[in-house]
Parts: sequence; C-alpha cells; structure tokens
Amino acid sequence: MPQAVFIYADGILHNYSNSNESKLESFKDFQINNDALESMRILRSSGFMLVALEQFPNSTDNKPSRADIVRMKNSLKENFLIDNFLPCFHERSDCQCLSPGIDLLKQAGANWNISLERSFLLSRRPEDMQSAKTAGCTAVLLGKTTPHWCRLDILVPDLETAVAKIVEYKNLHGPALGKSPVAHIRKR
Ligand SMILES: [Zn+2]
Repeated sequence: MPQAVFIYADGILHNYSNSNESKLESFKDFQINNDALESMRILRSSGFMLVALEQFPNSTDNKPSRADIVRMKNSLKENFLIDNFLPCFHERSDCQCLSPGIDLLKQAGANWNISLERSFLLSRRPEDMQSAKTAGCTAVLLGKTTPHWCRLDILVPDLETAVAKIVEYKNLHGPALGKSPVAHIRKR
C-alpha cells in the first residue's frame, strides 16, 4: 500500500489565507510557493505519494469554477510533481471534510489505496492535526507554538525541517511499518 504525505495546500504549496478554509476564489488568486519546490522533490524521490488537499469556501457565490480547479490541479502537478489533488466543495450537506472531520483523508485512502496509518499530514493549521490523529496519520504542524488543545506528533518551524523529519523516519523504519509510527520522533 502506498505511503503518502498529505499536504494542506493552503499556505504550503500556495499563498496562505490564514483561515479554516482556503480563500481561493479563482485561479488568478493562486500563487505557487516556490520555496516548497525542493521539499516536494525530496519527498517524491523518497518514495512518498503526494496528495494535496484543499477545502474551498462553503458558500456558493465565491467558489472557483471547475475550469479554475483544473488549472490549479495542473499547476500543482507541474510545479510540485504531486500525484493527486483532492479539493472539497462540501456538496454533500453532511460533508465532514472540515477539521476535525476526516472525509478528505478517508476518500484519499479509498481512492488510491493509501495506508493512512503509514502516512503523514502536513498543515499550518492546528485544527487539521485532529483530523490527522483521528484518521491515524502522523500529524505534522508547521508553526512555532500550538494551542493547548492541539494534539500532534511533530511540531516544526518550517517545511524543510518537516521534510527532513519525515524522510528520517522513513529511513529508520523502512516500508514494513507497524502501527504507532512516531515513537522515535515524537516531540510532545
Ligand atoms: Zn467538504
């Protein structure tokens, strides 16, 4: 089963909206984060499947068009060599993708036969750490501090450090991994 790194694209692969949902309303708002290019290349060459996740605004009037979504997906694939892009528009009234929900992770796992227990989730939002933990992924937060309620596995100041930790972990444990994946690198 593939081992993936899930990346909440907002603030890591493109410009950051600093809210619970991406503020992207069209492709013209979409700016690739060039600082992430090398980090994604390292993860890919280490054998990870890369899946970018995006949660779009929950109202009907400011969603990007389908054509814009395709442009964003193509841009992410071309620039970062990501394998898959999974956006959510919350079209089902009971959509549970927004943190602490895990619909996006469950869907990605089912779509591409990914082992969630052996996968990592990267985000700048503490809220997303709960989704990662619930789904069984290793939760990696990019930031300086965390709110008291936030449970996570790895806190790192920047993407380069996150990638180094993830690759270090994979090299330590190899492909035949059991559960409880983060004992060796757990920071808190
Ligand atoms: Zn949703």
